[in-house]
Amino acid sequence: MLALNTATLGHNLDGYGAGWSPERVIDACAERGLAGIVFWRREIGSRAFAIGNRVRAAGMEVVGLCRTPFLVGPLVPPTREARMDDFRAAVDMAAALGAPVLTLVTGGIEPGTKGPHESQKRLAERVAEGADYAARHEVNLALEPLNPLYGGNRTCLMTVRDALRVCDMVDAPNVGIAVDVYHVWWDTTLAESCAAARGRILGFHLCDWLADTRDMLLDRGMMGDGVADLRAIRAAVKGAGYSGTCEVEIFSAGNWWRRDPDEVLDTMIDRFRTVC
Ligand code: ZN
Repeated sequence: MLALNTATLGHNLDGYGAGWSPERVIDACAERGLAGIVFWRREIGSRAFAIGNRVRAAGMEVVGLCRTPFLVGPLVPPTREARMDDFRAAVDMAAALGAPVLTLVTGGIEPGTKGPHESQKRLAERVAEGADYAARHEVNLALEPLNPLYGGNRTCLMTVRDALRVCDMVDAPNVGIAVDVYHVWWDTTLAESCAAARGRILGFHLCDWLADTRDMLLDRGMMGDGVADLRAIRAAVKGAGYSGTCEVEIFSAGNWWRRDPDEVLDTMIDRFRTVC
């Protein structure tokens, strides 16, 4: 089952992509028989109920919502109140959309500390602070480990094993892990880590790692154009009990975001069938 993360059409950042409305994206995905869509908060505004209902009326599911504010590190909202307000707003939007999963990108290394351990402990405390609120709204939180390239300011989770350790510290039934090819493709222990995370994987994000990646944020590859072993990663995730959709999430300012979204959708469907 295939889902579109609308970042693939440039919808996660201002000034990129073809600027299709959520309605047009929904129609284009439904026409092609996709199973679901993952949106970004900036697209939804105050229309979460209407957009969620429209997705379901078109025969699909809202698979997830991106994302929470950073909870630790140098880019975290300035006060606890601001952090919690934005966190709750993200949960509220996911609930109104009918999205069962809210992606949690953790934020980086806490100022004044070195290495990931202290930040991971603080992260666990802060996830625990919000997990109940999410549970009351029937929203699951997917901690997404990011490629170590982002280990300074955007993440303190750099492997599935890191994310699992924090999940264990939080110990809440609605807290799990998102596995993204871009972030984990290099990890030779991934299959073991996924097996250890059995039953905790809440999302699987597809793209490819280009051998000559030019921008660490905005130059992700289409499946098949890079060097990630997509079939092996998918097998590891599936083997860990994950039965949800495969979500295509390609940030590509110089290539795919410049193309006609119809071509992008057709290509991702073809590549999903042939190389994943
Ligand atoms: Zn992702």
